[in-house]
Amino acid sequence: MPANKVMREVRPGEVPPDGGTAVQEDPARPVFRGNGEFDYLCVSCANVLAAAMDPRYMSKRVRIRCGRCRTVNVVAVDESVDPRTQRGRVTSR
Ligand SMILES: [Zn+2]
Repeated sequence: MPANKVMREVRPGEVPPDGGTAVQEDPARPVFRGNGEFDYLCVSCANVLAAAMDPRYMSKRVRIRCGRCRTVNVVAVDESVDPRTQRGRVTSR
């Protein structure tokens, strides 16, 4: 079973210009489905937005609008990153 990861809400002004927002049309169906280890949940209503995804495919550019509550979610990748060092260059492992 994949582990759950809660996404977070997009803050105004942080939307990258080169990303797109995936819109979940059916709240019962994840927008993405993969073979990875994490399910990604809406920060507001815990709806599953992406199922069994590999974290490498869920970059900060991936945004998903929840089909149930309309919140636009991004992956909370910067949780463990010091914001002062996060200027255009993020080392990813
Ligand atoms: Zn939601």
